[in-house]
Amino acid sequence: MAMAKVFFSDLKSGRCSSVVEARLLRFWEARNVKRGGELMWMDVLMVDVNSTVMQVTISAGRLPQFREKLHVGTMFSVSGFDVSRCAQNFRLTDSSLMIRFNESTSFQELTEPDSPLPEEAFRFRNHSELIGLANTNTQLPDIIGEILSVKSTVCDPPEEKNRVMVTLKLDSDETVTLSFFDSQAVAFHIQLEAMRVDPKVMVVTSINPKIVGGIGLCIIIYCHSTLVLTSLLIYGGRLFLNATSGTHVYFDKKTEAGAALFYRLVARDNGLPSAAPLLKSYAKVETMTIADLSSFIVSAASQEIDFLCTGRVVRIDTDKGWCYVACSKCSKILQRTKSAFTCGVCNNPQAVGALRYRVEMAISDDTAEGIFIWFDGVLTKLHSIRASEAAQMLAEDGVNPEDTRLPPFIADMEGKAYTFQVRVTAFNFTEHHNTFTITRIAEDHGRLTADGVHDDGGDDDDASQTIEPSTAAGDQGGTSKAREEDWLRGVKGGEEDACWLIYINN
Ligand SMILES: [Zn+2]
Repeated sequence: MAMAKVFFSDLKSGRCSSVVEARLLRFWEARNVKRGGELMWMDVLMVDVNSTVMQVTISAGRLPQFREKLHVGTMFSVSGFDVSRCAQNFRLTDSSLMIRFNESTSFQELTEPDSPLPEEAFRFRNHSELIGLANTNTQLPDIIGEILSVKSTVCDPPEEKNRVMVTLKLDSDETVTLSFFDSQAVAFHIQLEAMRVDPKVMVVTSINPKIVGGIGLCIIIYCHSTLVLTSLLIYGGRLFLNATSGTHVYFDKKTEAGAALFYRLVARDNGLPSAAPLLKSYAKVETMTIADLSSFIVSAASQEIDFLCTGRVVRIDTDKGWCYVACSKCSKILQRTKSAFTCGVCNNPQAVGALRYRVEMAISDDTAEGIFIWFDGVLTKLHSIRASEAAQMLAEDGVNPEDTRLPPFIADMEGKAYTFQVRVTAFNFTEHHNTFTITRIAEDHGRLTADGVHDDGGDDDDASQTIEPSTAAGDQGGTSKAREEDWLRGVKGGEEDACWLIYINN
């Protein structure tokens, strides 16, 4: 008995015994990062003859039954499945329904469909539509654009945290920044590196649009004491498109849509060689004003991202001190007892202490003021003086090194302008946190010497650097619990080393 053939648009919630003919467009694994990357299900997108795209989910338990058949581009006749509403968030299709394979699902390869099935289907959104979707987390649309530049932090061999930012020009001439993180960043970087010719066009699927750093400004105009106009201006925000686990990238002629744009671009090519190989702009970071930075941490989802800022030191927060005693093993702050240091992280009651810088400064540019923390690596690099050396210069009887007065070279930073890299981490996204960690600074205009002092994460075994608890006056220099926690987290959030270009202008 032949089963009734239906279209995706005919489906209703519940069990469906009719047959749909559809082509497999893309599929990817949904893994639970919180549970060691455990596979939860497979997401599959399929398109039917009417170009309706439907999300199909195959649970991890049922996957062995279907895994072998999953090939991009293959056509199937599908019957015997469950239809349910899809989640309100992160929608992958325009349909409000999705298909779940069950124990009686038939998933048969099809060579002769009743009618030809589309080869591809995308949900391209233009710039203003993307703006409308930004920060809503409702839809994961697709985009197409011309590749203008690629910035990558991927090193060889790749390190743990990675990010690639692609600047794309959309049809309307607006540019957007597309971000890939971690393993997707590495995969993208390697794919691009392996290409003989720089691609011109990218089709990117299932991206999550975010507006970052926008400032809302309410303008109210009074006329004869009567309110005549209220308007809300949003300016300065930039559109970031973040890759998701469902994101697929197709270069140039890999898709029909991409090929059409590719040939349009080639046709208007002026014959000049391309400006530079895409990956030349290696490991650069976007600049941001301090106002943008502050609103970024309010508006953006928790993520790790680096920015370059330039600003002048307006105030040094001296009551927070300028250094702390760190565990020489893990570099977290130590607790000072009468005769020893205790490291709560290493669980060591006899920890060896090393002095490390930590200075808070208010830095401002034309837009705003922010509180920035300088940690050991950057300050040592900047002044070529270790915290322990500075403490020796300032040593006073009966005063713990961390309680000595501010070293003059640090006091002199007040009033000077610096360009520095700020790393915004998940730590910055906690509710009451509004300080930024300066992760990198270099001597003027790239004159950073190769033999500069490295921020080695505190495993320096230079004996002259370690300090003894008995050299100073007991417990009076103890810090509050809150401050210690702040430091612990601050240190954790801050100082990873990477290769960097930065300069000071003072
Ligand atoms: Zn420790």
